[in-house]
Amino acid sequence: MDTLPRKIVPGELVRVNELVARITAPNPGMMTGPGTNAYIVGRDALALIDPGPDLPEHLAALDAAIGHARVIAICCTHTHRDHSPAAAPLAARTGAPIVGCAPLVLDSDAPRADVPFDPTYRPDRVLADGERLQGPGWTLTALATPGHTSNHLCFALEESGALFTGDHVMAWSTTVVAPPDGDMAAYMDSLARLHDRDDRMYYPAHGPAVERPRQLVRGMVGHRRQRERQILKLLGQQAQAIAALVPQMYKGVDERLWPAAGQSVKAHLIDLERRGRVVRSGETWTIT
Ligand SMILES: [Zn+2]
Repeated sequence: MDTLPRKIVPGELVRVNELVARITAPNPGMMTGPGTNAYIVGRDALALIDPGPDLPEHLAALDAAIGHARVIAICCTHTHRDHSPAAAPLAARTGAPIVGCAPLVLDSDAPRADVPFDPTYRPDRVLADGERLQGPGWTLTALATPGHTSNHLCFALEESGALFTGDHVMAWSTTVVAPPDGDMAAYMDSLARLHDRDDRMYYPAHGPAVERPRQLVRGMVGHRRQRERQILKLLGQQAQAIAALVPQMYKGVDERLWPAAGQSVKAHLIDLERRGRVVRSGETWTIT
């Protein structure tokens, strides 16, 4: 049986199943919840998933957890700054290669909404969808899940039916989909992809494990469809800008989260525009 303590304490090594342990980085916040979960897969020869931010106390906690074990690979689900910056210092300490998602290729250097990207990420090996990484007693398979970011991967641990979901699916919060790199249509396809699988357990990069994953994914698909209906209804009443939509759609929600919510609303609108449901003129969106 899995032991799943609900309270997450940064720096504490928690064994979540026979093959997997978790250490949460000391970076709690509005966007990171209790902090970024780094996962350690294996016993004597390890893979590290989402090493997290480059913070001295976090690196020290990971060092202590690794002990004398050999690190086979340092894996990143995507390259947001709360996930990948510790990869390089850990690779230098352990000699392990950085394996996993592709670096993000930016179309331009223009100011972007997605400032959270880590520009220092340099993988030694990029895993394509379906590619495997093996160690003694464990096999990780990469699963391309674009949406939150274009380079997002989940990792399936074949031996235990667990899926490391990064920021694609989390229990504590819905995922922010921020254009231009975040893409709502891709995100919905990636949710459908997870729903078609029969993973037994999700280990997300923020918050506790998810014990009924398909049910959660179903709920998330429904939530996004409902947000889309809400946008179409509000635009049906009156053409308006995202800044006007957000306070109506996120009434009960902490206002500090509205900028992030606005990004997801924008992602919905871009998707609806592609499907010919809305048009844009300057900042104003109109139903067709
Ligand atoms: Zn992220």
